[in-house]
Amino acid sequence: MRQLIVLLIILTGPRPGQAMDRELVNTSRSQHVRVRNVDLDAVRWTEGFWADKFKLCRSAILPSVHKGLLNPLNSEHLINFKIAAGLEKAPRRSTAWSDGDCYKWLEAVALVYQVTRDPELDRLMNEWIGIIAKAQAPDGYIATQIGNDTANRLKMPHIHELYCMGHLLTAACIHHRVTGKDSFLAIARKTGDFLYEQFQPRPPRLVHFPWNPSAYMGLIELYRTTRDRRYLELAEILINNRGSSPGGGDHRNGGTDQTQDRLPLRKETQAVGHAVCATYLYCGAADLFAETGDTTLLKALQRIWLNVTTRKMYITGAVGAGGGVSARGDPLHEALLADYELPNRSAYCETCANIGNAMWNWRMLTLTGDAKYADVMERVLYNSMLSAVSADGTKFFYCNPLKWTGEEKGPHKHHTATRWSIHRCYCCPPQVARTVAGLSGWAYGVSKEELWIHLYGGSTIKTRLPDGTKVSLKQETNYPWDGHIAITFKNTPDKPISLKLRIPGWTEGATLKINTRNSQSDCKPGSYTALKRRWSAGDKIELDLSLKVRLIEAHPRVSELRNTVAVMRGPIVYCLELPKKQNGQSIWNDGIFLPENVDFHPRFDKDRLGGITVLTGPVMNAEEKQRFAPEKQKSISSRSTGWTNQLYRRFESRSLNAREIGTVDIELIPYFVWANRGVSWMEVWIPLAR
Ligand SMILES: [Zn+2]
Repeated sequence: MRQLIVLLIILTGPRPGQAMDRELVNTSRSQHVRVRNVDLDAVRWTEGFWADKFKLCRSAILPSVHKGLLNPLNSEHLINFKIAAGLEKAPRRSTAWSDGDCYKWLEAVALVYQVTRDPELDRLMNEWIGIIAKAQAPDGYIATQIGNDTANRLKMPHIHELYCMGHLLTAACIHHRVTGKDSFLAIARKTGDFLYEQFQPRPPRLVHFPWNPSAYMGLIELYRTTRDRRYLELAEILINNRGSSPGGGDHRNGGTDQTQDRLPLRKETQAVGHAVCATYLYCGAADLFAETGDTTLLKALQRIWLNVTTRKMYITGAVGAGGGVSARGDPLHEALLADYELPNRSAYCETCANIGNAMWNWRMLTLTGDAKYADVMERVLYNSMLSAVSADGTKFFYCNPLKWTGEEKGPHKHHTATRWSIHRCYCCPPQVARTVAGLSGWAYGVSKEELWIHLYGGSTIKTRLPDGTKVSLKQETNYPWDGHIAITFKNTPDKPISLKLRIPGWTEGATLKINTRNSQSDCKPGSYTALKRRWSAGDKIELDLSLKVRLIEAHPRVSELRNTVAVMRGPIVYCLELPKKQNGQSIWNDGIFLPENVDFHPRFDKDRLGGITVLTGPVMNAEEKQRFAPEKQKSISSRSTGWTNQLYRRFESRSLNAREIGTVDIELIPYFVWANRGVSWMEVWIPLAR
């Protein structure tokens, strides 16, 4: 009988439109996405930037997070599951949200395992899943911060029971997709059933749950895994609850802008409040739209996206400037603040929120196929996501500020001069681990007769289009340090298909060759160029993206950034870093000012900080700037116009003056590797000599 089934599967193959169902975010049966994701095992990083980062994740990031979660001095602990399961007697000493971050670690383990098939990782997952199963109550409830104290279940939103259970649902779906096992999924189903029973009747006392919306994504992924529509229904109820009963609480209890609970999402015009909650809410709503096609949700997300990207996002793709008060009078912390309120030194920019922004933009990309979302996603990944982890993969940042002035501690307790191995809030390290581990799942997409490349990096893909057509290719590149990308088809269908290549919004004059001949295809920045033909195995496409160094200016309403520029090359944001050990303070005190015609030279150093391209060039110190400034003043024209729907744009030098050359040679490094050389003075936005 089994042989017959195998034979039938071989003969029939996946039916048109049939899901593989092994995607990181499983859109294979989602009716309302423009681009579907591909199975986790369809893509492998082979060489270059992301392949190196995956290796780092496997060898250092993942083991470091594991160690961190076992360290009694840390804020989040795996041992809580043993305590809750009755396997160990000890007092629970962790943050309320500890379980959720342990589940994120398990998700990362599963994602690394799907590539390495390392039996030790499988054993580790089995061990902890077994313990988690024992810690779960018979009715499906699981939260070690409450444990057996049933009278206190679901009483206070900020105790984060749903944040934790939400991450359980996602991690269990990924574990099932990677291993084919049902052990973790069975726990997730029980959890989902428990939540459905509690929330589906919409009792008013639970209207402000959950504080952190990780459960929206988790429930929709559970629906996609099990096809049990109750989980989708519940996700919709929870999203609709948000903002439906404003007031009645403080920032800890919901009902305010702090948790996007002042207005229903569909009526909201701005991004406000806790930045992790905000981005997770938008991710959940995007997932809901993918299943239901409710355009009122998509319109709200597009409106809010415009608000974020033109008013509230750092150049690194980070979001969440810090604490303050919302326009509607609610106290905010760890939050998206007012338009153009983007301080550098006190920038909170929590790693989890930055990654949440990337996750949201990835989802918007799959819903629409619009390259503007891929640009934001890439901006986060190369800058404010990677800045969270040290070059050796063992230490982490919670906050990702854009300026540092030599102190050991910053304006907020989470601001630190250098990265740490344990912390008073350890949510970010497992968030980085699961993102790097699963990133190959973000790189490509498929749609009817189209194969999309969202992220460039040495890789192979072997997949099927939605109609079952097989296609495979190889991508070779040293991107983002080099703009040359070579793509070679391996396996091609016997009908025309489109290769959709992303042309980043930051590039100018991209060129394409097909089998060494120039292609006339339109390479408009900020679009996907479509190359449609009947491809043959061995066909080679070469895309060249110009990586000319760019100076970037910010909207003049960001007052702190006036008369400063940031430096970018390709998707990489650079910074000036002056380590204490290298006499940084005295150079800082002398002042660093960029002449408008500054000429930076890139140099790739493969042995430095995991392999980076640095930029070197001559700039002015305060004394030189002083000599130069009086004659310069006359030439500065106002550039406060032409800023429609833009927060950052290329800086056009207005006064090319040969005398405008400094004598101080500086080196800029990619922002994401700052703070690998001890305490330093650092800035992304460097003053102009004017
Ligand atoms: Zn975090």
